[in-house]
Amino acid sequence: MKIEYQISLKERHTFHCNNIAEYFITVDEISEIQEVVEFANSKNLPLIPIGDGANFLFTTEIVKAVFIKIDKKDILIGDNNYVKAYSGVDWDFFVSFTLDNLLYGLENLSGIPGTVGASVVQNIGAYGVEVAQFVQEVEAFDISLNKFVVLDKNSLNFAYRDSIFKKNRGNFIVTSVTYSLSNSPKTVLTYRALLDFIGDSRDIHPKKIREAVLQIRDSKLPNHKNIGNAGSFFKNPEVDVAFFESLKDLYPDIPFFLSGDLYKIPAAWLIEKSGWRGFKDGSFGVHQKHALILVNYGESKGSDIYNLANKIIDSVKEKFGITLQPEVEIV
Ligand SMILES: Cc1cc2nc3c(=O)[nH]c(=O)nc-3n(C[C@H](O)[C@H](O)[C@H](O)COP(=O)(O)OP(=O)(O)OC[C@H]3O[C@@H](n4cnc5c(N)ncnc54)[C@H](O)[C@@H]3O)c2cc1C
Repeated sequence: MKIEYQISLKERHTFHCNNIAEYFITVDEISEIQEVVEFANSKNLPLIPIGDGANFLFTTEIVKAVFIKIDKKDILIGDNNYVKAYSGVDWDFFVSFTLDNLLYGLENLSGIPGTVGASVVQNIGAYGVEVAQFVQEVEAFDISLNKFVVLDKNSLNFAYRDSIFKKNRGNFIVTSVTYSLSNSPKTVLTYRALLDFIGDSRDIHPKKIREAVLQIRDSKLPNHKNIGNAGSFFKNPEVDVAFFESLKDLYPDIPFFLSGDLYKIPAAWLIEKSGWRGFKDGSFGVHQKHALILVNYGESKGSDIYNLANKIIDSVKEKFGITLQPEVEIV
């Protein structure tokens, strides 16, 4: 276990703002977690699990918390196409590893920054696939029960960018995830941009899908290693049919996806129509190519980005009557 005191978070989250963590504890043995929980209690500070920080925005200069990062990186292939990975495994490495071992399903989720542990927290999704479709069980430390637990997939309450871990923020420290994959390719090409990129080939190999997804992502998204960002800042809002129809009367070109009985409207479209795409104020702003991505071009503070996010929420609310919800975890 490594305990660091008042350490910069600049290289430990992808917005790259210069916040300071009161304590940052890295553990590579799962058995050490209980000690970290006790440490946070003794300091009277909240305990915040963190992976690569690809979904965090910190709004205060000093974050008065104990961060815990699980660094265990083992992967175990089991029977029946089950693969168990510990929380510290890099997500994209894991996707590549499964494909190299002829286990399929995760290819559409290629290139998502972050760790295996966080993959279940917001139920990562991209190009028509969500990780929830493949999760078999999760091992975690349950802080309220003060013990390690095994959570079956049916108890995880997965939804769009949501799970039991997000709903009970701060209660679980995920230690490993077991995925149930397939030994025969079952490609998903429902996402228009992916289908357009690939063409009409129905028997395309998952490794080719991975390559296509990586190329599309490279062309559309700013690289967080060069420009601070956390991917999509807001969730795509879902509205009922009556509300959608009223919007469609006003904006006949409004894009949407059906999500059960609800209409999901791309937040990027709402933000762009509210005039924010390409907005820049000093070293922070809204990305020119993608209105859903707020960016730190250099030395901006988390609070600058937070204030910008609030202005965007207000103007989208005023224009469309929709309150955007952040996808990013704001601390
Ligand atoms: C350029 C870019 C593109 C992105 N594209 C996508 C995308 O296509 N789809 C998508 O879904 N997301 C996307 N994201 C968001 C991000 O990649 C995911 O949310 C990812 O899962 C974050 O992983 P992380 O390890 O960095 O988690 P962190 O940002 O460190 O943490 C995220 C959340 O998970 C919690 N957490 C982390 N580890 C644990 C653990 N071991 N136990 C319990 N809780 C934990 C944290 O407390 C926090 O609430 C993108 C981000 C960037 C920067």
